[in-house]
Amino acid sequence: MHWQKRRLLGPDVMELEMNKLIVEKKGHVCVIGAGIIGATTAYALSRSGWSVTVIEAEQEAGMGASFANGAQLSYSYVEPLATPYALKKIPFWLLSCDSPIRWLPQFNKKHIWWLIKFISYCNSKKVQSTTKQLLDISFLTKNSLHGWLNDLGISESDILLEKTGKLVIYRNQHELSAVKKQIEFQKSFGCQQEILSADQCIEKEPSLARIKRDIAFGVYTLSEEAVDCHKLSQLILKHSDVNEIYDARVLNFNIKGNKIESIRTSKGEIAADKFVVAAGIETNTLLQKINKELLIEPIKGYSVSFPIINRDYAPNGSITDQNRKIVFARIGNTLRVAGYAEILGNNLKIDQRRIASLVADAERVFPGAIDPKNFTSWAGLRPCSPSGIPYIQSIGHENLWVNAGHGSLGLTLSVGSAVLLAKKIDKCGYV
Ligand SMILES: Cc1cc2nc3c(=O)[nH]c(=O)nc-3n(C[C@H](O)[C@H](O)[C@H](O)COP(=O)(O)OP(=O)(O)OC[C@H]3O[C@@H](n4cnc5c(N)ncnc54)[C@H](O)[C@@H]3O)c2cc1C
Repeated sequence: MHWQKRRLLGPDVMELEMNKLIVEKKGHVCVIGAGIIGATTAYALSRSGWSVTVIEAEQEAGMGASFANGAQLSYSYVEPLATPYALKKIPFWLLSCDSPIRWLPQFNKKHIWWLIKFISYCNSKKVQSTTKQLLDISFLTKNSLHGWLNDLGISESDILLEKTGKLVIYRNQHELSAVKKQIEFQKSFGCQQEILSADQCIEKEPSLARIKRDIAFGVYTLSEEAVDCHKLSQLILKHSDVNEIYDARVLNFNIKGNKIESIRTSKGEIAADKFVVAAGIETNTLLQKINKELLIEPIKGYSVSFPIINRDYAPNGSITDQNRKIVFARIGNTLRVAGYAEILGNNLKIDQRRIASLVADAERVFPGAIDPKNFTSWAGLRPCSPSGIPYIQSIGHENLWVNAGHGSLGLTLSVGSAVLLAKKIDKCGYV
């Protein structure tokens, strides 16, 4: 049977033709959460022949951590947060108010366990193996994303995709040998990156001339891209044949034997053959209903977005200030500046000092490109696993799956994670 995609809105329509929709499909999968991970998961499953419904608590897709993030598809920059360098810095993060990373210890079992696990990953051997696993996923995104866009009829301008590469600037010359080593290591996995002198950095990005004396060296990666993650989440769903239900919060699961039979939502019940939790930072709120939990810590970050008023002074591509841990991305006519990592629990309160600092950075690095009084500010919670590797697995019940915990790389890892999850679900057999 051929059927038309519907945007489902209420309880009466939810029962609807769900049964009709699964005819001639492998079965029906319900994906919980329409952030970039839920959206890509839903589409990967739909491509693979499943009838898919995505259920989202907000009014539209991409309103959580996927809303105004750093916009980087940084396929070759996937080094996790857990490194020997991070371990050395923990005391500083505890004491300093204005370091790029801030940590306020919480005295609950889950947080302490997350921290113990995080520390256990802070050694060179683990960093290498984590980097390798993350590169596998990010390259899967790199190799699949453009095919998806083509198949869906989404143009690069619809999602403000910029293929202008990424320049990472370093302020300390003594970091050069470690950076060279990392580049050499990553080369064996297909990453193509070049080290640039300060002069070469300015050649590549003339807009950086004002801070030339601060630049020790840079690393340029041509393959990196930038994209509006919010738009990408929305358009993937809009252009696919995934059914979308918005403004519906999943509250609990109905279980029969070892299977989830249906989910209870604020708009009624939905039955399916398989369920995928892709609820970002709220993944555990749902898993706790079935006495399961994953180690996912919310790490808050901020962004400010400026309309570009003079393109001559704006960056051509993405720039990361490695020492200040700030990214600058040009997406369409917007300059997005994002940064900071605050481990302060599950709160989205905006610290205005962080915003002021990002605005000051933008003004200092790209004077004339933006009006420092005209911007929008945002905070989001990165759903972070201790290792940096996302959870792409079944959990608790034979038809329940999870795709969550992508930390600072959710956009970069999205398509790859979705493809991997769809493969795993297919391998387990159909309905
Ligand atoms: C400041 C900042 C900068 C970043 N920069 C980058 C970057 O440059 N590149 C990159 O790759 N990554 C970046 N990230 C990380 C990336 O944004 C996240 O990893 C990614 O958005 C996580 O996507 P998600 O779909 O898992 O979560 P979310 O986008 O939060 O989506 C989860 C969705 O689930 C919904 N939901 C939750 N509970 C329920 C429920 N019970 N019922 C129904 N719906 C529910 C939520 O409403 C939400 O829409 C950045 C993050 C931040 C904060």
